[in-house]
Amino acid sequence: MTTGFDDDVRLIPLGGLGEFGLNAMVLEWREHRLLIDAGVMFASPELPGVDAIVPDFAYLADTPGILHGILLTHGHEDHIGALSFALQAAPAPVYGTRLTLGFVRRRLQERGMASGADLRTLVAGQAVEVGPFRVHPIHVAHSVLDSVALAIETPGGVVLASGDFKVDPTAAPEERTDLAALSAWGDRGVLALLADSTNAEQNGWTGCEDDVVPAFEEVFDRTPGRVLVSCFATSIPRIKRVAEVAGRKGRAIAFVGRRMVDNAEVAQRLGLLPIPPSSLMAPSSLGELPPHQVLAFVSGSQGEPLSALSLVSVDEHPTLAVGPGDTVVLSARVIPGNERTVSRLIGNLFRRGCDVVHAGTAKVHVSGHGSRADLVELLTRVRPRYLVPVHGEYRMLAQHARLAAQAGLPADRVLLAEDGDVLSLGSAGARKLPRVAAGRLLLDRSGGDEIEDVVVRDRRHLSAQGIVVPVLVLEKQTGRLQSPPEMVTRGFVDVSERSAELLEDAGRFLVETMDSRPQEERFDPALTRERVRVELRRFFKKRTQRRPLVIPVVMEV
Ligand SMILES: [Zn+2]
Ligand SMILES: [Zn+2]
Repeated sequence: MTTGFDDDVRLIPLGGLGEFGLNAMVLEWREHRLLIDAGVMFASPELPGVDAIVPDFAYLADTPGILHGILLTHGHEDHIGALSFALQAAPAPVYGTRLTLGFVRRRLQERGMASGADLRTLVAGQAVEVGPFRVHPIHVAHSVLDSVALAIETPGGVVLASGDFKVDPTAAPEERTDLAALSAWGDRGVLALLADSTNAEQNGWTGCEDDVVPAFEEVFDRTPGRVLVSCFATSIPRIKRVAEVAGRKGRAIAFVGRRMVDNAEVAQRLGLLPIPPSSLMAPSSLGELPPHQVLAFVSGSQGEPLSALSLVSVDEHPTLAVGPGDTVVLSARVIPGNERTVSRLIGNLFRRGCDVVHAGTAKVHVSGHGSRADLVELLTRVRPRYLVPVHGEYRMLAQHARLAAQAGLPADRVLLAEDGDVLSLGSAGARKLPRVAAGRLLLDRSGGDEIEDVVVRDRRHLSAQGIVVPVLVLEKQTGRLQSPPEMVTRGFVDVSERSAELLEDAGRFLVETMDSRPQEERFDPALTRERVRVELRRFFKKRTQRRPLVIPVVMEV
C-alpha cells in the first residue's frame, strides 16, 4: 500500500552544492533529521576582512523537526569547520571516526564548547542507531585518514553519502576504500547516492598517495639545506610518507604553525603518525641543527596571510628562515580563488633565494578526490535509484550528472540540486519542493568568533544588494586619513553618473565621520573598521533603500 509522499526521504543541501566548501546536507524523514557534515569555506582575497565563511544553519534552528545527530564523514575543514555553528543552531550528538573527532575536539576547545559536546565515535563496519535511522560507516580512501562514506537506512529507503573519496586500490589496507561494502549496498538497494563531484572534470583514475614518494626522495637528495613542506595540516597520509623519507635521509622533523602542530599531535596520539620522539624537534630549536638535517612541515599552502609559510616568505617568521640551498615544497592543490595569492607566495619564496617545488613542476601532490573512472566505479557498485552530485561548483555537479548519464543512468534519475533546494524521494518518484533559506555567514577576523552583523542570506541577496569595500589609509601617528577614501563596489551601483555622485557623497560622508570620531577610536583599526561599516551601511540604506555588504579595509602607514 502506498502512503503517498509520507515516507519520502527529503534531502536539503544547506551548503556545498554550487561551491567548494561549506558541505552541509540535511536528511529528513517525517519530522526526523540528520545533518551530514558541517564545513567552512575559506575566505578568498576578494573579501578582505572576512576570515571564514560558514553555512547558514537557520533552517535547523527555525523550522520544526528533531535533529538526531550530526554525522561527520572526515576531518577536513570543509566538512567539520562549521560544526560549532551547527551545534549552536541545533544541539545534537556528533558522530565521527576517532581522528575526525580528535580534530573536532580541538576546534570545539578553541571555541570553549568542548565540555558541552556529545561526541560519539564511529567505527567503519559498525552500525549505529541514530533516531529512526541506522547509520553504517564504510571506510574510504581520501587525503585524510579515517574517512568514511555513510550508508543511512531510513524508513523511506537507503541514502548513501560517499563523503570525499577516491578508489585507490593500491592504498595501504587501513586507507583503502571498502569496495565490497559498496557493492553489498548496491545489492540491497540504494534510494539515493550523494557522490563527491570535486574531480568530475578529471579523466581516468585518481592516483595513489604513494605516487608522491619518488619526487620527495629526489627533493631530499638534491637539497643541501633545509626542506620545508607545506600541505594541508589534515593530510596525515602525506605527512606520514614525507616523514618516512626524511627519516631515511637522516633529517629531524619539526611542525611549524598552530594547525600543523595541533593536528600532528592528535594523529600521533592515535598512533596514526608514527615518528620516533628522537627525530622530533621543537620549532624553537630549528636553528640548532645543521640545515641539511632539517625537515619542517609548515602550514599555509594556500598563502593565507598570517600563516607560517607566508611569514617565512617575507622573512618575518620568528624561528624559521629560508635561503639559498633550501627547498620549499608546496604539496597541496591550490583551492580555486587562491591562485594569485599562492603565485605571490611562490614569488616571495624565490626572492629568499631558495628553490620552490610545487604540483606544477613535480609530482608532489596527488588528489584525494576520485576522478571520472573512480566516480563510475562508485556508481556501478552502488547502482542507486537516484544520483545526487554533491560537493563542488555547479560546473562539476553538471559534469558529474553527464558522466552518470554516459554510464547508463537514465537522465531523470540524476538530480542536480543547489543549496536550499528540497529534494523529495520515494516510491512515487522524485520531486523538488519549495526552496528553504540557505546561504552563508561571513566571519570577521576583527570580531574573533563572533558572526558579523552582516548576514548574507544567500548569494541572491548578495548579488541583489551588492558589496562595498571602502579602503582607508590612516596615518599611524595621528590616526587621520592620509588620502581621500577609495570605494570599490560590486553589484551595488552601476557606473552611471548618479551612482558616481552617490559614491562621492559616501566618500565625503566618510571623511566627516572619521574627523568627528572619538579620540580613542583613532588608534584602533578594529574600532575604526567597525565604525566605518556601521555608518556607511546606514548612509546607503538612507540614500538607496538597499543594504549592501560593507567590508572596510583600514590600513595604517
Ligand atoms: Zn576532504
Ligand atoms: Zn571536501
